[in-house]
This record gives sequence, C-alpha cells and structure tokens, in this order.
Amino acid sequence: MIKINEHYLKLQASYLFSNIAKKVGEFQEANPDKDIIRLGIGDVTRALPQACTDAFHSAIDEMATDSGFRGYGPEQGYDFLREAIAKNDFQARGADISADEIFVSDGAKCDTGNIQELFTTDAKIAIPDPVYPVYLDTNVMAGRTGGFEDGRYKGIIYLDSTKENNYVPSLPTEKPDLIYLCFPNNPTGSTITKAELKTWVDYAKENQALILFDAAYEAFIRDESLPKSIYEVEGAKEVAIEFRSFSKSAGFTGTRCAYTVVPKECAAFDAKGGKQLIHPLWNRRHCTKFNGVSYPVQRAAEAVYSEAGKAQARDLVAGYLKNADLIAREIKDLGYGFIGGDNSPYIWIEGNRDSWEFFDMLLNKAGVVCTPGAGFGKCGEGYIRLSAFNSYENVEKAMIRIKEALA
Ligand code: PLP
Repeated sequence: MIKINEHYLKLQASYLFSNIAKKVGEFQEANPDKDIIRLGIGDVTRALPQACTDAFHSAIDEMATDSGFRGYGPEQGYDFLREAIAKNDFQARGADISADEIFVSDGAKCDTGNIQELFTTDAKIAIPDPVYPVYLDTNVMAGRTGGFEDGRYKGIIYLDSTKENNYVPSLPTEKPDLIYLCFPNNPTGSTITKAELKTWVDYAKENQALILFDAAYEAFIRDESLPKSIYEVEGAKEVAIEFRSFSKSAGFTGTRCAYTVVPKECAAFDAKGGKQLIHPLWNRRHCTKFNGVSYPVQRAAEAVYSEAGKAQARDLVAGYLKNADLIAREIKDLGYGFIGGDNSPYIWIEGNRDSWEFFDMLLNKAGVVCTPGAGFGKCGEGYIRLSAFNSYENVEKAMIRIKEALA
C-alpha cells in the first residue's frame, strides 16, 4: 500500500494570497468602475534592465548557431556568472568568497526550501515570526514539527520579531541547531546591524549551530553601515549559508535566477560529532536534483554586473525605494507606527486593530490592496504590509486614497 507523507497533512492551507484574491475579486465585482491599486504582493512591476535583455537576446542568437549552441550546462552555474558574483557581490565588499562557493539556481525560494534536506529530521529549527512562509512549511513537510496549535507548529523555536526588539529577534533561550534569518526582512522591512549579526554568528559557533541567511533584499540597503552579506562578519563562513536572488535586485521574478553561497569551511556534524563539510553535500544534491539555469538567463544575470547593468539595476531599485519613501512619509504623517521602507521595499505598519479588518477597510474605503500581517505569523497580527513594488503614480494615488480613508 502506497502511503503518503503525513507531515503534509499538518500544513495549514495558505489562505493568505487566495483570501486576498477572493476579497479583491468580490470588491471588483461590486465596484466594476473602481480601479484597484495593488500594494500587497511582493512582485516587481518594472521592466528588466536593458543590459540584461541585450545579453539575453545575444545569448539566444548564439544558441541559434551550431558553434554557439549549449546543451546541458554545469549544474552549479557557468564560471562567467559565478566569477562575476564572487567579485562584485562579495570580494568588492571585503568578503572572501570565491566563485566555486557560489551555486547558481532558479530561485532563493527553492534553495531556502531545499537546504533543510541536508540535516537530520530531529534538528531543532529556529524561525523568525513573522516570516517568509517557505522556511516553516518546508520543515513541516520534512517532519521536523508537531501539529499546528494555537497559531504555531509544535517543536519549532519561534524567534519573535516585535516592536519591543525593533523587529530583530533576540537569541533564543532554547538551543536550536538550524537558525533562519532574513535581512532586510520580509515582511517587516527591518534590517540588522553588523554588531547584531555578529552576536548570531558567535552564538552559532558556540552552539554548533548553522545560520541560513536570506539576503534576497540586500540590494535595497542604502545605509552603508549595514551588512549586505553575513560574510562581512568575521567567522561567518564556518557557520552560515547565504541565499541571494536577482528577483528583486534586477527584476528577475519571471526570468528566474538566484544563487546560494556555501563556503568551503562551512560545516555540520555527523552522529559521532565529527565535522562534515556542507559544500560537497550541497554540490551532490544540486547536481543530482537540479539541471542548472538556462544559458541565456545566466548571460542576462551576468549583465547585471556590467557597468550599464549596475547603473540600470541601481535605478530600478532606486525607483522602488522612492515609492517606499513616499509611503513611509505619508504613514508617518498619519501618525501610525511603522518600520521598513528605508532599506527595504516593505513598510510594516502598526494597524492598532485586527490585520484583516485593516485590510478590508483599505480595500473598501480606498481601493488599495495591502497584505494583512497575520498571514506571516502570530506576531504579525495587528499589522499590515505595504509593498513599494508599483509605479510612482500608483503609489501617489494610493497614498492620497489611504489618507482620505484613515483621516
Ligand atoms: N526570500 C524572501 C525573503 C522572499 O521574500 C522571496 C520572494 O518574495 C524569496 C526568497 C524568493 O526569491 P526567488 O524569486 O529568488 O525565489
């Protein structure tokens, strides 16, 4: 008899985006003339940088010739991209990461979801709350949690990110083996200082734990004193894996390219307590289960590091940050507490009421879609997330309507 993995039955249906879609659909049907402005979803809206589309086109032209054609590529990514990443994203900031420590992939979602396969099912997991849901759900699927009770899975060490700790979780009292961190954070938009990140690196070292650091939004960091990579912290290479993506930094959400950094000295332990390097294990997994990112997409990603590509990607991010500035300014004027928007495309707003109630009010009175904070975890209740991923004109219009609705 074929039996299913019953851990999947523990998963909570993801009501968040389907519920939002349902409510927006009903509102649109009742108000067919109302134009709805979407500041909910975390998807980019502006065109790919021209340097990327030019490189994309010429790579496709190469593929149309026998001499330029490429079949299966290296699963870890072509050297031209791995070298450009290592040089520009790490070595240029003083982080000693080499090209062969970079694994190119089709998404930080897949990588942050798949990495847990390397660790035992009894590994103790620490996950922030609120959080990007992939970390939690993939550990539920793998059987690292008990059932869902009172808004939380049993067996998980939740790292509360609240107003009291400025949305940067404190070290846990219970000892974890695997620690997920995400900065700039989705959904709160909070950032972490180098000193704070160092306390986590030191903690991981002292406790033989491993940090999974999701830096999918590093391109939005404007404050030069903030770390873009965990490897800017001394000693992090032994205890941290970092995830990056071209999705938000260069508009690749539909094009698909990301990468994971597994330093050669990064280690976990076997049953006898012996050190086991993670790099060869992730390499083995990647080569067994992943075919690599297509050649034209990797050429498009490489173009992000050309002089023109750098300037165009910077402009893209600057455009979203200009939207974020406007949202933050208006929310502040309205007297609401919030965080984010300064080094992040997300603004996390204290609604002082149930987060779905706030969502309904903004939709019905302003025709603006936000994301209710409760969808990201128990600590998100009472908050909403506004995203800066839209045109400036739409954000301006949305903020005028929100001001009228909340006045
Ligand atoms: N990590 C975080 C924190 C995200 O918010 C997202 C997407 O929204 C991702 C990873 C996924 O990135 P990718 O598009 O590379 O899969």
